[in-house]
Amino acid sequence: MVAEKFHLDLRSDTVTKPTEAMRAAMASAEVDDDVLGNDPTAFQLEAEMAKIMGKEAALFVPSGTMGNLISVLTHCDIRGSEVILGDKCHIHIYENGGIATIGGVHPRPVKNNDDGTMDIDLIEAAIRDPRREIVYPTTRLICLENTHANSGGRCLSAEYTDRVGEVAKKHGLKLHIDGARIFNASVKIIIFQALGVPMDRLVRAADSVSVCISKGLGAPVGSVIVGSKSFITKARRLRKTLGGGMRQVGILCAAGLVALQDNVGNLESDHKKARTLADGLNQIKGLRVDGPVETNIAIPGSEHCEYPS
Ligand SMILES: *Cc1c(COP(=O)(O)O)cnc(C)c1O
Repeated sequence: MVAEKFHLDLRSDTVTKPTEAMRAAMASAEVDDDVLGNDPTAFQLEAEMAKIMGKEAALFVPSGTMGNLISVLTHCDIRGSEVILGDKCHIHIYENGGIATIGGVHPRPVKNNDDGTMDIDLIEAAIRDPRREIVYPTTRLICLENTHANSGGRCLSAEYTDRVGEVAKKHGLKLHIDGARIFNASVKIIIFQALGVPMDRLVRAADSVSVCISKGLGAPVGSVIVGSKSFITKARRLRKTLGGGMRQVGILCAAGLVALQDNVGNLESDHKKARTLADGLNQIKGLRVDGPVETNIAIPGSEHCEYPS
């Protein structure tokens, strides 16, 4: 008997194919014009995500990059605003500097530790003194990334996120979480550490979160941003400005709803497989996967490789 060829593509969790259930849901999705604000399936996905995240409202966007850009620009709607973010974070490295080139927002990178955090005292020290605004940009926002991709998918705890939220509040700043893989963080925290931290608790301190449904959740396209009603109203307008207003977008949102229903439960086993793969690779001479492999990212030989974006 000839063994069936089995090809496993491990470049990224973006390399997925929609399931049969997703394709069926897309084919039969109820749709209308979402730019006019009438697409029922888009509303359904947005309502579901807002509920999971414990926020007032949500907005479907074409990509995580646009979700972050819209979020940063909505919080920093005055030119010359400054955002504090990790020096290895996705927004700073892999998004074409969009917050600066499109939004006129100045990035203030702070060192990311191996676990994806930034030291709280370094964050606080990076906040500009408003009494010197004649020379300084104005700090308006702090961004975290959970899980932190370039640190190998490390999870930020609810307690750490809360502490950053407290610093933000104390200085009148907003907190955005790039939660492209926030579901992976939530699963890890709930199941592996048995802390029982649900998603809304994990992002409680955040004013906005951007969540990818096109990564480990397996939907073909899209991200959803969540926040207050007034944040989402402004974000919706900015999405249109950036060309991200789409018409019968329920076709895509239908796949997202299936992703939430069917695939969140698979993330834990993804994490176990990544751990098993890393353990195996570490037994091969000359190969090394650094870090604890907490979630679904295992980067071999990380001095030479980086997260593929
Ligand atoms: C993938 C990713 C994004 C951007 O998502 P795209 O949909 O590829 O634009 C943002 N942040 C992180 C941490 C990511 O991994």
